[in-house]
Amino acid sequence: MAENVVVGAGLAGMVAAINLAREGREVLVLERESRVGGSPLYHPSPEGTPIDLPRLAEYTGIDISGAVARFKAGSVVVYGEKVTVDMDAISSVVIERGPRSTSLDSYLYELAVKEGVKFEFNHPVISNDDTVKLPPDTIIATGLYFEGFDALRVPYLTSFHFVTRRKVPDEEANHVTVYHGQFTSDYAYTCSVNGIQFAHVFQRRPIGKDTLHAFTEQVFVSEGIEFDGWEQFTFPVPAASINNPRLFAGDKILAGTLAGCMESYMFFGMLGALVSGKIAAMAVSDKARAYQEFKLATSAFKGAYLMKKMGNITPHWLHRLMLLQGIPRLSEYPALADVVKRAIPGWRNCERAGA
Ligand SMILES: Cc1cc2nc3c(=O)[nH]c(=O)nc-3n(C[C@H](O)[C@H](O)[C@H](O)COP(=O)(O)OP(=O)(O)OC[C@H]3O[C@@H](n4cnc5c(N)ncnc54)[C@H](O)[C@@H]3O)c2cc1C
Repeated sequence: MAENVVVGAGLAGMVAAINLAREGREVLVLERESRVGGSPLYHPSPEGTPIDLPRLAEYTGIDISGAVARFKAGSVVVYGEKVTVDMDAISSVVIERGPRSTSLDSYLYELAVKEGVKFEFNHPVISNDDTVKLPPDTIIATGLYFEGFDALRVPYLTSFHFVTRRKVPDEEANHVTVYHGQFTSDYAYTCSVNGIQFAHVFQRRPIGKDTLHAFTEQVFVSEGIEFDGWEQFTFPVPAASINNPRLFAGDKILAGTLAGCMESYMFFGMLGALVSGKIAAMAVSDKARAYQEFKLATSAFKGAYLMKKMGNITPHWLHRLMLLQGIPRLSEYPALADVVKRAIPGWRNCERAGA
């Protein structure tokens, strides 16, 4: 039997590989690093996102609840003013990413190995020439790396990041605080899970030391924590064009962030990656059906893209007012929470699966 190839042992790649293996296919995953868990620059890290776990399991055939925790507390610091968020109203969960045994990446890897998927580590697929040599219907799921976008000529924006992390006691785990303020036109946060706390500030234009200083100071005032040891990096995000989401590139199938399954306002990408892994596997045998599923998965992309464009020209005072009015009302008005959730790629596929 011919081997199905998947490039990238991240969320989308592993969900695709597991689904193909369950169809009785031979599957080989090519991964650039020497292990699963992605870039050591920003992993391990806690990531948060709205996910309906039972419906996701129904849609993808994979129950990830063993690698997911509920948030104990969530707040947003809006230009210095702290507001509590009802994390359950937006079904938000926290997930460890990276190479540790407690991460979702390790959880999916173990499952994939059990299903008979083969992995070849230290095998980067970098250039367009490398990609062309792969068999038709190869699934490319290389995530937030420039090479994949360049090789397949997918338009991207560069986003600029500072991250750092520290150990925290268990009782401080599963907390998130999101920061909006003058210091970034995007946002920043601190988040903890499984004994690590991560701080992250980013923006779609270069970040100066003054920005980092303003964020560090705000975290100290709001949470009493002093972070240091910051690392700087950039990555590509599929928010450069309103038409970014794409399931196919020539005879290859795309999945995850590279396919545009990342929400273009807040950059939530985990749910989209998991759902698009299932869709990519479907595309190997039924392209028409997979295309319809992909359109549903990314149906909110354009709205979020336009919201962000408007957000970029919204003055800080209006941004502050909107956040202070909207965040406390998430649990009061389920329709408002639904708008947030349905903007996340993949949410609507899961919603329909559970209907
Ligand atoms: C610091 C940070 C914080 C984030 N926070 C959140 C969050 O809170 N909530 C949320 O929903 N999303 C968040 N995201 C986004 C989320 O991580 C991604 O959208 C998601 O991981 C995308 O999944 P993927 O399968 O496309 O790629 P990934 O899971 O990143 O996997 C890509 C895999 O491909 C491999 N690879 C890359 N290039 C090559 C190559 N050339 N050849 C072979 N292998 C290659 C990588 O090593 C990696 O294993 C965050 C991202 C970062 C970096």
